[in-house]
Order: sequence, then structure tokens, then C-alpha cells
Amino acid sequence: MRLEDCKDDIVRVVVTEEQIKERLAEMGAQISEDYAGEPLVVVGVLRGAVMVVADLVREISIPLHMDWMAVSSYGDSTKSSGVVRILKDLNSDIADVNVLIVEDIIDTGLTLDYLKQYLEARGPKSVRIATFLRKPDAAQVDVPVDYVGFDIPNEFVVGYGLDYAEDYRHLNFVGTLAPHVYGG
Ligand code: 5GP
Repeated sequence: MRLEDCKDDIVRVVVTEEQIKERLAEMGAQISEDYAGEPLVVVGVLRGAVMVVADLVREISIPLHMDWMAVSSYGDSTKSSGVVRILKDLNSDIADVNVLIVEDIIDTGLTLDYLKQYLEARGPKSVRIATFLRKPDAAQVDVPVDYVGFDIPNEFVVGYGLDYAEDYRHLNFVGTLAPHVYGG
């Protein structure tokens, strides 16, 4: 869905379609260089990271496997619960391979902190993190993030995989919602 299809619901565009495309190409090139000659599994975190994984892996020029995990997140609210539950685990064995976790957004960092430790316990060669978006609070958590698409302000955003009450995931950009959408 494009901005013109939902103009009334969006207050501000935070990242445009063009910016997304350009940045993912840069990240893909960097990842290809960093993991050249190495076994790589890209682990997407469902459901928010579907778009970024789909577009990012197509910018990676070395062999890789793809796998997915699902963890609980915000539900229908716009505030972090701090609770992380594994809803779907990996299909593949990650022992002795390099794992690159791909997230849609890091806010408090609680989700990734947990996931990283969870996967490290399986004996991979390495576990690194790529995130499409990062909010300022993420700096307070001790999770090293290896690849960041965009640093954004501390606002609730939707689009390009990110939802509000399961809506707006299919926007081809990232934006902030008008108060009337929240019932305000
Ligand atoms: P964290 O554990 O870092 O606080 O939160 C990570 C998860 O919270 C993300 O994977 C995402 O599901 C959700 N989240 C955090 N900030 C936002 C936001 O601005 N918009 C949406 N739609 N989800 C968010």
C-alpha cells in the first residue's frame, strides 16, 4: 500500500520506499563482504521482519540459508510488555554456522537480548544482529547491533512489516499514525 492510499491515517513519513531500497542494498553489500566464504543462516523474526528479510536477502550476493522464529511482541498495544515468548523455533540446526538475526525494529532491546542468548546456547559459530530500525532507548541495553538500517525517533511507527493491531504491515514505507487511528 502506498501513501496516497492511506493519507488520512498517516501523520508523517519516517522512511520512504526509496530510502529503504537504497539502505538495504548497502546493508546487503556489507553483509556479503563480511560473511564471504562463511556458512550463513539468516534468521528472520516473524512477523515484523518478513519484508526486510525478503528484500535484504535479495541484496546479498553469497550463499545463505533462511530460517524463521516467531516471538511474542506488543500484541495490540503500543507499549512493550517486556515479555518474550518463543512461538515458533528454528527448523534448522545452527551448530557451527554463522547466524544473522534480522529484526524489524529494536526498541527496548529486550526481544533481541533474549533471542541472542537463546540461539548462542546452541553452539553456532557466531550470532550477529541486523535491524531495519532502531529507537534511541536501544542504546541503553547491552546488545551489540552489527547492522542498522535507520535510527529513528522514539515514536510508534507502522509499515514495511510493522503493524498496529495487525493493520498497516503492507505499507511500502514507514510512518507514524494519526491519533484518530488509536481512537484518539
Ligand atoms: P523491544 O523488545 O526491542 O522493546 O521490542 C521489539 C519489538 O517490539 C519489535 O519486534 C516490534 O514487534 C515491537 N515494536 C517496537 N517498537 C515498535 C513500533 O514503533 N511500531 C511497531 N509496530 N512495533 C514496535
